Amino acid sequence: MIERKIAEIRKKNDLKPSICLYKDCCNQAINSHFLQKNGVLNSISETGFLIETSLIDPNHWRKNGKVIDFRKKGLKSVMSLKIFCNQHDSLIFKSIEGKEPKLNTYEAFLLLSYRITCAELRKKITNTEVYEELLNDDNLEGKINKYFIQNYINGFLFGCIDLNSLKFILESEIEDSHEKFVFKVFEYEILEVCASAIFSPPDSYPTVNDILGEFQNIYVHLIPRNDKLLILMGYHRDYCTPWILNYLTSWENLDRVGLEYKITELFVKYVENWAMSEPLFNSLKSVNLNKYLEYVNKINEDLNIDFNLFSK
Ligand SMILES: [Zn+2]
Repeated sequence: MIERKIAEIRKKNDLKPSICLYKDCCNQAINSHFLQKNGVLNSISETGFLIETSLIDPNHWRKNGKVIDFRKKGLKSVMSLKIFCNQHDSLIFKSIEGKEPKLNTYEAFLLLSYRITCAELRKKITNTEVYEELLNDDNLEGKINKYFIQNYINGFLFGCIDLNSLKFILESEIEDSHEKFVFKVFEYEILEVCASAIFSPPDSYPTVNDILGEFQNIYVHLIPRNDKLLILMGYHRDYCTPWILNYLTSWENLDRVGLEYKITELFVKYVENWAMSEPLFNSLKSVNLNKYLEYVNKINEDLNIDFNLFSK
């Protein structure tokens, strides 16, 4: 029942104030959306709701051990976390907010990547706090493996250090661009999904003494716009791997089914922050939805993705 305890602490933690993650700002953070609410999220949400995968609410805990499930969320809370203060949330992202912002530009790619890097940093900070509280809970004395929990905490702390470095690189690049990042834009017919993520390629090699691996990342943003799905994908020029290059190329010239398989694999293996429209969710086959949940609820397994979540 440790998962339930973690979910309870997490829920309590959500109510605590957080500090803005922009540079050394000390203002209180508000709820920031990973992708713009107006112009992106609301463009696939006629009802004011989207379907997102998220951790199961502790009040609705199920006995089958499933940790992640699909949940219907209002636009106010979907794909969002306390990341920046009100001032920075509107100031920094001004150029990609509004009615018809240009989203296929280098600046847009940087800003979206910056926001999701900060979101991942917030998650790691929260995880550290949650697991520290778990470690120090007197009621759990003798019931939990403190060694494993301490290991988790150490992992989160290392993650915070890496993400802080990436945040700094992106902040510098946004202020004064040196074309440090390479990005590509793919445009396909609309599939009513959206996503924003940063992930490590399978061939990155982080070691204790070599921080190189920590910067080998792919940034990916799936943005529904009008009748198109815009896919922005890129990496830092100095920290590229053969896998990253091949992966970006593999998104070119896909047919509809190829694209659906590709997005399925992306969501199962690499992306946590994604959502879809209610009509799309309702049109998906339950066998595929269950398969998706079965895969993402398995941890640390090398998965061969053999299904198309979006097949009709
Ligand atoms: Zn701020």
